[in-house]
Amino acid sequence: MHASTVHYLRSVQILVVEDEKRMAALLEQGLSEEGHQAVVARDGQEGLSIAQSFPFDLIILDVTLPRMDGLTMARRLREAANRTPVLMLTARDSIGDVVKGLDSGADDYLTKPFSFEVLLARVRALGRRGPIAQPVCYQFADLRLDTSTREVTRNGHVLHLTPREHSLLELLIRNAGRVVSRDRILNTVWGFDTDVAENTVEAFVRLLRNKVDLPFDLKLIHTIRGVGYSLRLPST
Ligand code: CA
Repeated sequence: MHASTVHYLRSVQILVVEDEKRMAALLEQGLSEEGHQAVVARDGQEGLSIAQSFPFDLIILDVTLPRMDGLTMARRLREAANRTPVLMLTARDSIGDVVKGLDSGADDYLTKPFSFEVLLARVRALGRRGPIAQPVCYQFADLRLDTSTREVTRNGHVLHLTPREHSLLELLIRNAGRVVSRDRILNTVWGFDTDVAENTVEAFVRLLRNKVDLPFDLKLIHTIRGVGYSLRLPST
């Protein structure tokens, strides 16, 4: 094998309490692609019961939930002396929810819509209190991306990427060898619930290719027609 992805990962067990199906599925998929183990609960009562039955490193908790809201669930957990870090998801512009969330025992919060990169950064930050999972460096063929220094090189040459190009490349190299759908790119690089034209992704991939592939013989970014993109070696 002349291609490898270097992960320095320890799996973090995460309970996601979220009733919105699409959001829950995106969180579950994204977190598991990061090497975390995610379990989804659909309402506050189910979330509380699972949180009290199994050990988790982190709970991602939506505020607005059926049967028991997130604020009540967080308070009940703390009353039961459960100290698992809680990252609360609140609606935009509801500062009252944020204050109540932190008062009820949440450790941090994110307002919807949020970008997946920001969520992962918060997961890493909260995870530092418990077992930590942090990918440090990814390598594929002669392409190398260091997540701590944010340096990207090919064959030792430093590539200068914009923050958005960097996020896009990080997503592709994290999933090297697999196909990353346009939807996943939109959600990860531009955030949930954003209105970005479909050809924006294509335009950004073109910009990224100009820096990552154009100056080099070995092309790594491949278009999978009708589906998305993949970082892989050219088929021979
Ligand atoms: Ca909800």
